[in-house]
Amino acid sequence: MHLHRFFVASEWLQRDPITLGGEVSHQLSRVLRLKPGDEIELLDNSGAAWRAQLVEVSPRQCLAARLRLYYPDTEPPVPLILYQGLPSGRKLDLVLQKSTELGATKIVPVPASRSVQGERPEAGGARLKRWRRIVQEAAEQSGRARMPEVSDVVKLDRAIQDIGTGDLCLVGALDEGAVGIRDVLEGCKSPASVRLFVGPEGGFDDDELALLRSARVISVSLGSRVLRTETAGLAMLAVVAYALGEMSTKGADASP
Ligand code: SAH
Repeated sequence: MHLHRFFVASEWLQRDPITLGGEVSHQLSRVLRLKPGDEIELLDNSGAAWRAQLVEVSPRQCLAARLRLYYPDTEPPVPLILYQGLPSGRKLDLVLQKSTELGATKIVPVPASRSVQGERPEAGGARLKRWRRIVQEAAEQSGRARMPEVSDVVKLDRAIQDIGTGDLCLVGALDEGAVGIRDVLEGCKSPASVRLFVGPEGGFDDDELALLRSARVISVSLGSRVLRTETAGLAMLAVVAYALGEMSTKGADASP
């Protein structure tokens, strides 16, 4: 049975029975056509999850009884932050959705000098709202107990100010000086966080690469093929998640 999951306001979860309003009730009753007795999972982005059973279903309000509180083990051991060079059109939507599935903790769109904005600009607030909606749906679908944070666009010089001493910072780079990401990850012992930088379609320019180097961001190669910007960040996230042990059965003995 597929369990439908929803991030909701924590106040809703504090009431007894749990009282769901607005959009979620519409979704439950009209779109999913759930009925009293059906079970759902409710999350408040604190890391906790409530298994609950619907008691009353209507488009404006649903009531649910608490069944069980638990803490899904879905978050990476250290923050995993993706600084994505702002790509053209709506490619960032895909990056947001997939990086949520892959375990990113935070996604920061970085307008780079070679970023092209082909689409008609949306009002700033509407764009960020849409980005957060995509991440919320991906987190619900993939069973994450927390939604990754999505920030509004942040310039590169500001973004590198977040770097702390114990952080492992990597930028995907195509130049010959880049070290294989595998070698970097094999030599790295428990970083405080992992920060990944990816250029837009045209790559980062020399000034941006110099800025990243000055912040001790390591240039890494993902192999001999040129990946599209939306592929590169996701590939980096996947291999970093693997290196952090995220792709084993949690708690199981990993030895062969
Ligand atoms: N024409 C551009 C290609 C950019 S690809 C150029 O020559 O720079 C977009 C971004 O994806 C790059 O800035 C880099 O961060 C990343 N990327 C793509 N393929 C990569 C690879 N094989 N290794 C490392 N990073 C890569």
